Amino acid sequence: MISEAQLRALISAMATTIAAHADELAALDSAIGDGDHGANMKRGFDAVAADIDQIAAKPLPDALKAIGTKLVMTVGGASGPLYGTLFLALGKELAATPGDYAGAFRKAVDAVAARGKSEIGQKTMLDVLYPVADALRAGKEPSELIAIANAEVAATGPRKAIRGRASFLGDRSIGHIDPGARSSALILQAVLGAFA
Ligand code: ADP
Ligand code: MG
Repeated sequence: MISEAQLRALISAMATTIAAHADELAALDSAIGDGDHGANMKRGFDAVAADIDQIAAKPLPDALKAIGTKLVMTVGGASGPLYGTLFLALGKELAATPGDYAGAFRKAVDAVAARGKSEIGQKTMLDVLYPVADALRAGKEPSELIAIANAEVAATGPRKAIRGRASFLGDRSIGHIDPGARSSALILQAVLGAFA
């Protein structure tokens, strides 16, 4: 069971981590996009943190759905609906199969892929989310999950973007880290850190 105090810690950790890395995310998105990913994510997670009292008082599945709804309303860009879907689907799946975090997370990532009409290997957040989902199902430790996520962030560099704004650059997207892959790794790090 996840307590209200743990949920508060989790929400604060996500908002603090995203705020601390907003400039980095903006710089990554400036290289192969329009530069708004840091501001988008910070706006969204600040809005979630502003609602921490109401959200943390809910049971976990409902709290996750509330976070997803808030992100859909506030993040904007391509990433807003996708991160919104991730949390909404995670809440829905955990309500259906309580305690099966790995199974629910994998289904939530599938929901993101369906929403984005995208798949792994296209230089997006999915390049981090799928390997993390698989590692979670394989029972990897938090430190291993973070190492896998960071390695997958780096691995987006040599890839050509096939989805999202970066795909407009074609081959010129090669050699740059995907901003959404990086923000996914940051959120994971924040969540795992909150439970450490
Ligand atoms: P926008 O591209 O509209 O400016 P953001 O800058 O906030 O939105 O988010 C860009 C990130 O969203 C990308 O780095 C990528 O990881 C992710 N993304 C964009 N389109 C897709 C998609 N179709 N599927 C999965 N992820 C995507
Ligand atoms: Mg952008």
